[in-house]
Amino acid sequence: MSKQRDYVLRTIEERGVKFVRLWFTDIAGNLKSVALSPTEVESAFSEGIGFDGSAIEGATRAYESDIIAIPDASTFQMLPWRGDMEPTARMFCNLFTPNGEPAVSDPRQVLKRQLDKAAQKGFTFYAHPEIEFYLLQHTADGTPVPVDKAGYFDNVPGGVSHDFRRASVSMLEDLGIAVEFSHHEGGPGQNEIDLRYADALTMADSVMTLRTVVKEVAIAQGIRATFMPKPFSAAPGSGMHTHFSLFEGDENAFFDPAAKYQLSVTARRFTAGILHHAREIAAVTNQYVNSYKRLWGGDEAPSYVSWGHLNQSALVRVPMYKPGKGGSARIEYRGLDAAANPYLAYAVLLAAGLRGIEDEYELPPEAEENVWAMSHNERRAMGFDPLPGSLDEALHVMQKSDLVAETLGEQAFSNFIRDKQRETAEYRRQITPWELEQNLDRL
Ligand code: GLN
Ligand code: MG
Ligand code: MG
Ligand code: MG
Repeated sequence: MSKQRDYVLRTIEERGVKFVRLWFTDIAGNLKSVALSPTEVESAFSEGIGFDGSAIEGATRAYESDIIAIPDASTFQMLPWRGDMEPTARMFCNLFTPNGEPAVSDPRQVLKRQLDKAAQKGFTFYAHPEIEFYLLQHTADGTPVPVDKAGYFDNVPGGVSHDFRRASVSMLEDLGIAVEFSHHEGGPGQNEIDLRYADALTMADSVMTLRTVVKEVAIAQGIRATFMPKPFSAAPGSGMHTHFSLFEGDENAFFDPAAKYQLSVTARRFTAGILHHAREIAAVTNQYVNSYKRLWGGDEAPSYVSWGHLNQSALVRVPMYKPGKGGSARIEYRGLDAAANPYLAYAVLLAAGLRGIEDEYELPPEAEENVWAMSHNERRAMGFDPLPGSLDEALHVMQKSDLVAETLGEQAFSNFIRDKQRETAEYRRQITPWELEQNLDRL
């Protein structure tokens, strides 16, 4: 029994834990939970907990219906919102088949496989997300109405957002998740929480936890929270800009004090990989029909494949950092939205970046001006391709991608596409209020 497992069993005993929730995600990144009696935890560590996985979205279906979940002891945390009356803890799980193979469609396993690949090259992958979401009032008919009319960095005395952020941030800290900062975002009722950088697996778990915390706090405060990428056509969407870096041991492999923007060759090739494959991985980084309304709705969401220094219109931005802080050298991927599955998204972004390093991709010219303001021809001349315009288009591009198939694994790849094609087919059948308003009396 490892030290970490010992610690978990001891804490369960000492804190009188009544339930241990085993957490994992389906292919879309929905959190799933099985509550376990504390007496079962020891055997869950050694043998796993078996369940019928055939009902889990994208996970299994017919061919792999029995799933074994083995909790990851390093993720053990008490759940603060359950209070002291019924002490409840959680652990994230890895999913396996009954014969001990990683379950093909467990997003956590997909990311772990990719992180192992990076580790073989001597790299650790770090992530630091800026997570945006809207806070809404409850309304009788469910129409979304923001809780305030504030904007970017506004301080709203006595405001709902203020209390909300304070409660969420302290709950996250209770769960061992370090928050770097939080603030009101550009849209009415829109907020952002930025997590302190951590290795990508820990961060993907933390993003899942943050979404649950935000929902729990919203319920406790009598409001609604949503990570939907673009809930309002006339207000900014909710992105999940994420800063990435690779470390080799204690050294930031993206940092070269002598290079332009202090961006090492490794960082340049990694960035080139992400740009080169950005269209192929879009169905993963932006997985909903609604995601493309954000990407093509302006308001600082990227629409074209480009990179730039301090350029808010670029897909990849190279942020400035303080002199002497080479350790924080990083790139910011601005395409991700707040509803992405963080495990799969980090996996495909890492795969694209590593491909750039392996195949020594050249970084294309930098975008020095506002990419949105350029003409079509100017963008074409610079090679700034548009991101896919819809989920449908993104799926078409992804279907031809060896990189994504390899990263997700063939089975997860086809499950993902099948699930998403169902969504696009359903969407295609919709007759929207806009169409009726435009056409009904005119045509
Ligand atoms: N909301 C914007 C997006 O969707 C980002 C705004 C910002 O953080 N600068 O990407
Ligand atoms: Mg930010
Ligand atoms: Mg922001
Ligand atoms: Mg940002």
